[in-house]
Amino acid sequence: MMRGAAKEPPSRRSPNRMRPQSGFPLETSAARQSYASKQRPADAVPGGSTSRRKITMPTIAFLGLGAMGSRLAKNLLDAGTDLVVWNRSKEKTEPFVAAGARVAATPREAGETSDFVLAMVADDEASEEVWLDTERGALAGMKPGKTAVEISTLQPGWVRTLGEATAEKGVDLVEAPVSGTLPQAESAGLVFFLGGKEAAVDRARPILKPLGKSFDRVGDWGDGATVKLATNAILGINVAAWAEVIGMLGRSSVDTQTAVDAIAKTAVWAPNFGYLTGSMIQSDFDPKFPITLIDKDFRYALALAGADRAPVVDKVRESFEGAIAEGLGAENMTALAKLYR
Ligand code: NAP
Repeated sequence: MMRGAAKEPPSRRSPNRMRPQSGFPLETSAARQSYASKQRPADAVPGGSTSRRKITMPTIAFLGLGAMGSRLAKNLLDAGTDLVVWNRSKEKTEPFVAAGARVAATPREAGETSDFVLAMVADDEASEEVWLDTERGALAGMKPGKTAVEISTLQPGWVRTLGEATAEKGVDLVEAPVSGTLPQAESAGLVFFLGGKEAAVDRARPILKPLGKSFDRVGDWGDGATVKLATNAILGINVAAWAEVIGMLGRSSVDTQTAVDAIAKTAVWAPNFGYLTGSMIQSDFDPKFPITLIDKDFRYALALAGADRAPVVDKVRESFEGAIAEGLGAENMTALAKLYR
């Protein structure tokens, strides 16, 4: 049963690793209005024109309020979206109810009441559960013509399977994995890799606009996942390289920060090296992108590339596995540096 905000007591709880409650939207009366009564200018919706015609504002459901999903859902609320939320652990929905969102009891119920259903969950298994569970899954509730947007980092093969399942129901799937971590999620600085039919991708872009800064369509279903896994392969290899090099510098006679500052002036420096090295030098391993998640991405990248064709990815995955065996799985990916001090 769908519960409205007015029936829920305001909660002071923040979702997992969410910013303090002071940053949470509270004046979302627009989001409390019913879907049918809400309107906004035609040029603000997919296919809108600059005429003075008004078009009904879509209802958006968000499934998965983890570290990333909670931040994306918050940005949607801040943008005045008519938002329905669902999370496996129900307590994470409480701040959203307090801020004006409605809660669905199941993904299926979220699907029944929404025009766009967005999901950001852990992995392929979680994705399958929230979309395709025959009793509770979102697809079971979605009507033909609606759009499913899968933002999680998944395997290309699974995304294609999901695309075919949605198409059988007349629902469009847009895959939309992202690059960027918690600060980029908070500041709408994410880079999206969109995959799907062109018309569906064009329809999803305005919905995703409050969440990111770049929305390239990279191909059809599964191609977004491939580009995302390629991105994280490069990321993880750099994490491992810096973890070893910071250890090497730390054991040498050179001051580590002085060395890194000098390297930063060379052509080998890349934009995220300041973040990676800073985190390792300051031992700030508060989880943004935990080792368990990048290890999952390396498992997916290896399956895609084949271990014999990607020996470096294979070796770096061994390092992440080693870190997990040492009990570091829940720490930030940069905690890999602890292995090489
Ligand atoms: P997270 O904090 O661990 O959140 C995972 C979410 O998935 C939670 O909402 C969790 O529900 C849900 N979930 C897990 N298993 C489920 C299942 N079987 N059925 C239903 N829901 C399930 O992870 P995150 O950092 O938000 O990452 C989410 C996705 O984004 C992952 O695919 C990750 O690879 C990707 N990603 C992460 C980052 C990052 O920097 N963290 C950046 C880009 C992409 P509960 O709350 O009930 O546990």
